[in-house]
Amino acid sequence: MNNNYAFIFDIKKYSVNDGPGIRTTIFFKGCPLNCFWCHNPESQNYNPEEIQDCSFRWRPANNYSNSNTIGYKISLNELLREIEKDNLFYEESRGGVTFSGGEPMLQIDFLQNILCESKNRNINTAIDTTGYAKYSDFEKIIKYTDIFLYDLKLMNDDLHKYYCGVSNKIIHENLIKLSNDTKKIILRIPIIPSITDTEENINLMINFISKLNNILEIDLLPFHNTAKSKYEKMKKENKVANLVPPNAEHMQLIKNKFSVLNIPIKIGG
Ligand code: SF4
Repeated sequence: MNNNYAFIFDIKKYSVNDGPGIRTTIFFKGCPLNCFWCHNPESQNYNPEEIQDCSFRWRPANNYSNSNTIGYKISLNELLREIEKDNLFYEESRGGVTFSGGEPMLQIDFLQNILCESKNRNINTAIDTTGYAKYSDFEKIIKYTDIFLYDLKLMNDDLHKYYCGVSNKIIHENLIKLSNDTKKIILRIPIIPSITDTEENINLMINFISKLNNILEIDLLPFHNTAKSKYEKMKKENKVANLVPPNAEHMQLIKNKFSVLNIPIKIGG
């Protein structure tokens, strides 16, 4: 693993859905999961890939402008320069930088380095993680990470394997440990009709979360199908093409169910 270079596929500026305040979100390439509803299918493969029309992604100015390659190698200094461009916005909004993906923990050495360098510059740091990593990797970054945005999807392991491609065991074990070791966790729960949004799954989640310590907030993320065109361009099967996004009323009902936990709940990121 390299601690001076990373593979990323996007940088989103002025993000307001990836942690507190106005943030710059860095999307790392590579994900160990393969969720049916993934709205960043271009994140899953660790290696850069050719796509017919990848104009829907940000690429560094003066680079790759004629390329159909999605995903590129970026150095620590280059990325830090990009992050620091918006220092003013972070200061005024109490925002910062969020490392997302894909799964940023897959490039742990680089992640540790850039989190540390960001903290050295007094920039608030968040990571958005699937939780599918060795706990010793979490231990490497706890002191440099202000907020963990931690995904929770399906409580039943067989369903998790079917819809997300891997067991949820390590994800849940890590979350229990992390919630004992840090007070900085925001849970992110995708609400996917008939998959994560079932009475059984929601009840199991509420029961699981009720035993955790130090959960700052729960974000309920309604399913949307904005990734449709990405699947078409990538010639990948869109397994949830026919799902209908939940309406505001339904999201409110789910929020009401989670409210028994006495944890602040937000609809959306
Ligand atoms: S964890 Fe996120 S990025 Fe990875 S496959 Fe699932 S939805 Fe996509």
